[in-house]
Order: sequence, then structure tokens, then C-alpha cells
Amino acid sequence: MDASPDERFDRVTRLAARIYDADVAFIGLVDGQFQSLISLNTDALGRNVPRRDSVCNMIVESGQPMVVGDLKTDPRLAGHPLVPHLTLRFYAGAPLVAEPDLVLGTLCVMKREPGDQETFDLGPLLDLAAIAANEIAQWKLNLELKQISETDSLTGLPNRRIFDDAFERAIRRARRTAQTVSFLMIDIDHFKALNDLAGHQTGDKVLSQMGRLLSAMPRRPLDTLARIGGEEFALILPDTDGAGARIVAEGILEKLRQAAIIHPAGGLVSASIGGASQTGAAACASDLYFAADMALYEAKRGGRGRYSDKAG
Ligand code: GH3
Ligand code: MG
Ligand code: MG
Repeated sequence: MDASPDERFDRVTRLAARIYDADVAFIGLVDGQFQSLISLNTDALGRNVPRRDSVCNMIVESGQPMVVGDLKTDPRLAGHPLVPHLTLRFYAGAPLVAEPDLVLGTLCVMKREPGDQETFDLGPLLDLAAIAANEIAQWKLNLELKQISETDSLTGLPNRRIFDDAFERAIRRARRTAQTVSFLMIDIDHFKALNDLAGHQTGDKVLSQMGRLLSAMPRRPLDTLARIGGEEFALILPDTDGAGARIVAEGILEKLRQAAIIHPAGGLVSASIGGASQTGAAACASDLYFAADMALYEAKRGGRGRYSDKAG
């Protein structure tokens, strides 16, 4: 839940502050052990508070709204660890209910001066909390959908879509910085035979194993690893020349040898890798892809289980 807060949430807290003439209004989300304030129109409160120390946690646990006329004197908050440090006295909060029994957090207003809890009108706060809960549910759903749309479900690696974007970006970067970009295409050898002899499920297992193996290899922050086809993986290596790409490719082949995955036709599962590199203004996505594909073809023709490269 670390995506940036949204103007939609600020609107809700601004409205709440205006309606209640409050000094502070915020949306607090509980996430594991912490409450984080995603929308907050003041600096009077910390952005992240251990959940058990937040007043809002009482609302999250009970699922009921709570109004406290004076935080300093209210017996419900006697001995509370944070309350003595607050400069705010009045508190009203409503739960953000996503579905029955699922409270995502709270919408709260606070005031410097104590107020009357008996005459406080909870109506608008409950309505705004319902709006906020809806927005948050949408926001979470969007994050989930984005994650699903960018991930290959079998291996958990970024999918073709992410690869295409990253590939274009890496080309633009090479042109802008006059650096060399390298690209590795990794293709499992005799995978059709593996499927045919050991079954598709075993094939799937080998693919996830390959995904884990590749993910576990050390990578630079700008590198992109993806599954781009059935038993084809790709590694984009910005700011990396041909010699660097070769080291990475040999490292992958070595790791695969060490993994010692049995091939049902005999021997171990191997992969062939084709690599290509281009520098600066010469960088072109389709040419780089084609060159790596040609290199891969050469690695296959040369006996498989090896690396072959092209200047691009
Ligand atoms: P080569 O050594 O030349 O690469 O031969 P190959 O058999 O690996 O190559 P080919 O491209 O002929 O076969 C790829 C196979 O991968 C065919 C297809 O059925 C299988 N495949 C593609 N996607 C998946 C998948 O998600 N799971 C499984 N189990 N198999 C898949
Ligand atoms: Mg293939
Ligand atoms: Mg293959």
C-alpha cells in the first residue's frame, strides 16, 4: 500500500474539516502493525503510528464510530500512550468499512479545543467515511489489477507487456546517454520433449523453477527480467556492453547447470542464450531484438546449452 496518496482522499478530508470546522482531518489506514495516514491536512500528527498506539485502532477493532469530547479527561483513553503528547483535544472518527467485518481504517476529525460529544452530528462523517471506503476499495482493486496485468502468473515474473515497455525505455536511454544496451534472450532447450515425456505439469514446474533461478541472480536496479513467451525469458541490461552481457549469460548457464534439473530424455535441462548489444544513436528496438534472436538461433545450432552473441 505504498502507492502515492490520491487527490480523491484529500477531497474527503478537506470536506470533513470544513463541515466540522475541525483543525485536523485525516484518513488512517491500518496495515498489519501500523496505521498510516494517507491523507492528512496537518503536521500535528505522525504519518505512521504503531497500530496499538493509535486512538483510531479502537474504532477499527470495534467497527463503531467514536466521539471523544476531551481526549485528556475521557476515561476510555486513560493511560493511553499517545494522548498525553497530543495538542488536540476533541476527536471524532468513523470506520471505513469495505465489506462486513472488514474495516480498512478510519476517517477522523480533531480539534484543539474540547467539544460536546453528546451533540456532535455523526451523519456527515459516516457518509464521508462510506465514500472514502469506496475510494480505497477501488484504489486497492486498481493496484491489484495493475499487478495482475503486469505479471506472468506461472513464474511471477514481469510479463511481455512490461518487457515491451522496458525494452523501448532501455533503447531511449542508450540513445540519450550514448551508452551500450545489451539484451539476452533465454530459451530452454528441448522443452517440447520435456512436456511430451514428463507431462505439461512437470513442464510448468520447470518453468517456475527457471523463473526462480533467474530472479535469484543478482541484478542492477535498471535491469529487467521477464517471461516473454512459452519457455522464453528475456533480460534487458542497460549500460552494459557485450563483455558484461556475456558474464551475465554465462552466470545464468552455470546456475542452471548447478540446479541439475533432470530432463526426461536424459541428461540435465539446459538453455540456450542469444545476446546482442547496441550503443547510443545506433540503438534500435527491432534490430536489437532481431540480433539477439539470430544469436539464439546460432547457440541452438551450435549445440545448445551455450551463449552466442551478436554486435547488433
Ligand atoms: P529448442 O531446443 O529448439 O528450443 O526446442 P524446444 O522444444 O524447446 O522448442 P519449441 O519452441 O519447439 O517448444 C516450446 C514448447 O514449450 C512448446 C510448448 O508446448 C511449450 N510451452 C509453451 N508454453 C508453455 C507453458 O506455459 N507450460 C508448459 N508446460 N509448456 C509450454
Ligand atoms: Mg522457444
Ligand atoms: Mg526451447
